[in-house]
Amino acid sequence: MQTARCARASIAQRDDGGLGFSGDLLQQLRRRDPRVRRLAVAARGDAAVGEAALQAIGLSAKANPIRTGLIACTGNAGCRLAMSNTKQHASDIAAWCETRVQLDGPVNIHLTGCPNSCAQHYIGDIGLIGVKIQINEDGDQVEGYHIHVGGGFGPDAACGREIFHDVKAEETPKTVERMLKAYLANRTSAQESFLAFTRRHEIDALKSMCGQQAVE
Ligand code: SF4
Repeated sequence: MQTARCARASIAQRDDGGLGFSGDLLQQLRRRDPRVRRLAVAARGDAAVGEAALQAIGLSAKANPIRTGLIACTGNAGCRLAMSNTKQHASDIAAWCETRVQLDGPVNIHLTGCPNSCAQHYIGDIGLIGVKIQINEDGDQVEGYHIHVGGGFGPDAACGREIFHDVKAEETPKTVERMLKAYLANRTSAQESFLAFTRRHEIDALKSMCGQQAVE
């Protein structure tokens, strides 16, 4: 999973089989974990050793399309403006969906903790913006999200449209699962992107398709 702060960072397998590290990521990781220095040495020219070293510190160079397309802002673990714990909830979405939805192409899922939108939820295929949801008349609140679809950039530039309002954080993994399954079940072909699929339908039709998807 990327974060907004290290969006330029990357680890990738080179043509020669070794692992390539962007300077941004390596510098950030070195500051946080001295084991990364040993990892960089171990990985030189040997992808298997590098992958094993990454896994030893809870990272990996391998990920399915759900995890690689996931971006979260700092969230309330480090930002006083946040309405929600975006990083934890992004991780929850990935853990839930990656074993239940088999994507064959990228779908960008952006979680941002407040309207400042550091993770640019407005231009994600799926964009979640953190909110507080009142759960009783005493004013108690839980963390949650408004969820948007169909945002894009470059030649596809447009802000996403809200599809679900006030979704509790604990319900977002299953909601995203329904959205991804609705896309796979109703797209015109494997070549139709999530963006094209969502822009082809009105919000009520997309909601209906999501509602037809079974989840555990
Ligand atoms: S989007 Fe809001 S909550 Fe998230 S890091 Fe930026 S200012 Fe903080």
